[in-house]
Amino acid sequence: MLEIPDVIKGILILICVFIPLEKVLALHQQNLFREGWLTDLCYYFSGYFIGKGTIQILIVFALLSQGSIPMLSRFVSQQPLSLQVVVSILIGDLCFYFAHRLLHTVPWLWQFHIIHHSSTNIDWLATVRVHPFEQIFTKACQMIPLYWLGFSTEALAIYAIFSSAIAFFVHANIRIQFPVVKWIIATPEFHHWHHDRNPKISNKNFAVQLPIIDYIFGTWHMPQGENPTKYGNKLNIKTSYLNHLIYPFQSIRNRFNIKIREKI
Ligand SMILES: [Zn+2]
Ligand SMILES: [Zn+2]
Repeated sequence: MLEIPDVIKGILILICVFIPLEKVLALHQQNLFREGWLTDLCYYFSGYFIGKGTIQILIVFALLSQGSIPMLSRFVSQQPLSLQVVVSILIGDLCFYFAHRLLHTVPWLWQFHIIHHSSTNIDWLATVRVHPFEQIFTKACQMIPLYWLGFSTEALAIYAIFSSAIAFFVHANIRIQFPVVKWIIATPEFHHWHHDRNPKISNKNFAVQLPIIDYIFGTWHMPQGENPTKYGNKLNIKTSYLNHLIYPFQSIRNRFNIKIREKI
């Protein structure tokens, strides 16, 4: 029998879960084939293989670096699986939080991250609009400490599935409220503010799994009963996959040339 590749199975599952959910519980009314959907579909397929390749490289790194602190590594891997999963979420999201803040504050990193903030419609498919450089950067920031600390392969596999699932969930165009859960786990209400067109607001809610991290570091923003109305940023980047790929490099080169000209 013909085996369906995982990349196709993944998109079919996402379509079956999120399209009906966004239809029934839409936060913002929008067309199914909204602006940039084809670009985001390209991101889905390229991101799947880039993500897989990155993980394989990180696993090799983990094998080479194992034993950096053997006692700690042994202690972590001997803990119950459930505890390892909870702690890996905590450490992984903390690392993501700081990597994400760097993406917003270091000018050349922002030229890559601006692509994720270019979506004017936030829905499950907008999740994957991430420049390959950023994808590798954030994955490395999240996973290297976890591999290094010695979490078991099972715990990391569960963490990886949880990370992907919650990333799609927080971008979903759904208006459902999660009264208690929203303080514990990131929800669409939490992450949509991060895509607000106003940069003062989009510089909030950097965590992607645990809102408490933003609360602790003073970057939490979730006003009661309100939702963002305009997403994206003022930069008018042409919505095609290839334009997105080259945009950060062009932008960094232009900025560099301006600085050189100013010095002359
Ligand atoms: Zn961001
Ligand atoms: Zn996002």
